[in-house]
Amino acid sequence: MPIIQARGIIKEYPYQGDAVHALRGVDLAIDRGEHVAVVGPSGCGKSTLLNVLAGIEPPTRGTVELLGDDVYALDEGRRSALRLRRVGFIFQRFHLLAVLTAAENVELPMAEAGVPARERRDRARELLDYVGLGHRMGHRPPHLSGGEQQRVAIARALANRPEVVFADEPTGELDRRTGDEIIALFERLNADGTTLVIVTHDMHVAQRARRRVEMADGIVVRDHGAPADIASDR
Ligand code: ADP
Repeated sequence: MPIIQARGIIKEYPYQGDAVHALRGVDLAIDRGEHVAVVGPSGCGKSTLLNVLAGIEPPTRGTVELLGDDVYALDEGRRSALRLRRVGFIFQRFHLLAVLTAAENVELPMAEAGVPARERRDRARELLDYVGLGHRMGHRPPHLSGGEQQRVAIARALANRPEVVFADEPTGELDRRTGDEIIALFERLNADGTTLVIVTHDMHVAQRARRRVEMADGIVVRDHGAPADIASDR
């Protein structure tokens, strides 16, 4: 049973009286527990696909089932509740709030979900320990390195125990060594049961995913390591 099932996805953006064809017919199914990298040249539609799969950006045509819901048939309130409670996001530029401490940044999605203050604090501590930043709870993002900020962003993405985490170029701003530490963290997260979908043009990130979906010009051109191929190899 796929956790994400996209069918016939077309996405056009209006542009100067014309249309940009960002996605030209994508079908993709991702099972629970997968670790998927979406790769391909710049402009081929990777970020657009990620946003469509994650319930952020409605497609022009096609449907997305996310965690059992036809996500774009939900009203905006239900769709944002699904994103808040069952999905996590990680961005290239971290998107942390500079005025809040690391712990407060991690608490934010829990506050939004109505988790009581005491429990939020305990969970923020637990998550910052998980990402190796237990000693930086009270630091604000401007006083953290890029790698540390990305760890805080990962902890924040995990706050409400998401079943799926989407990441868009999560190592794009990091040097190689720091990027490798983030990849190791993703591997641990996946081993602990979280489904991961990561857009990247970092080959180190892509090679360490178990499945690689290659895109070109708005379509999927190759799909290595999909569960169906693995089954048919046996
Ligand atoms: P990638 O992530 O592979 O670099 P994107 O998904 O960002 O590719 O973009 C795919 C195509 O859609 C590109 O041609 C891009 O310029 C275009 N595009 C993306 N977002 C918008 C937008 N909001 N408005 C118009 N065109 C867009």
